[in-house]
Amino acid sequence: MLIGVDIGGTKIAAGVVDADGRVLERIQASTPVTRGAEAIVTTAAELVQGLLRLHGPVSAVGVGSAGQVDHESGIVVDANENLPGFRGLPLRERLEELLQLPVAVENDVKAAALAEAQLGAGRGVRQMLLVMVGTGIGGALVLDGKVYRGASGVAGELGHLLFRPEQGRLCPCGRRGCIEGYASGRAIMEIYAEESGRSIDVATIAKRARDGETLAREVLTQAGRALGLTLGGLVNTLGPEAIVLGGGVLQVEELYLPALEYGLQMQALPVMRRSCTVRRMELVHDAVLIGASLLAKERTEDGRRGQAAD
Ligand SMILES: [Zn+2]
Repeated sequence: MLIGVDIGGTKIAAGVVDADGRVLERIQASTPVTRGAEAIVTTAAELVQGLLRLHGPVSAVGVGSAGQVDHESGIVVDANENLPGFRGLPLRERLEELLQLPVAVENDVKAAALAEAQLGAGRGVRQMLLVMVGTGIGGALVLDGKVYRGASGVAGELGHLLFRPEQGRLCPCGRRGCIEGYASGRAIMEIYAEESGRSIDVATIAKRARDGETLAREVLTQAGRALGLTLGGLVNTLGPEAIVLGGGVLQVEELYLPALEYGLQMQALPVMRRSCTVRRMELVHDAVLIGASLLAKERTEDGRRGQAAD
């Protein structure tokens, strides 16, 4: 039995996961963001302790958290304004103190990618690029079942690939022209509001598009195409066997997704495009929890190897 934790911008979930990656029980709490990082850490620990009381001891706990998380040091090296106090937070150390158990931490999108690569849409795929489009855009590269972390430990931030240089839209990261400023859920809402003077969410924009509203159709199409063109460049660079797509915005089936595929088709070199399939995430809402439990498993195995070497 394994325990995984999913720390997001609006909620924290913890779950008991079996050896085959099935979530046996899931509990959650809303994230007390206004009370800061310490309250989030305490809430996460309380959820885990609740599961431990019901299901008995485990040898390690895995956590997928929002923010740029360095798996090696266990520190959240950067986080946006949705997670106040997270920047510099020694997340692993704090949870190990509270739980008195070994803990493994990772960025939530990377945890989800690990789960999809081992147990979901990327099973049997050697080079998998996961792209999640929600409020922002997250990504992760998984090579031969292992998350690629780069020299910084936090590689994979494909939402900040440059789409429009110099005079581009301002991105939450502080730079201009990042793809996140054109193709994310937040960007779709902002662009629609700028053009129409009405602030409505992506689901409502999608409904208006289905009803035939020209502006809604245009905003979704341009956003999807922008992401497709950007991913085309990545496909040319990395040559992945599969791109696995997920996140709330991709539930907008019409317009966004076909426009994304069109952009990808335009920008990817034919030989690269032919070797790469586009798939949907399979584990969807449980991907982070399941990925976190796989990290807990790795941590347990590392611990055992450490003991054997002593
Ligand atoms: Zn950016």
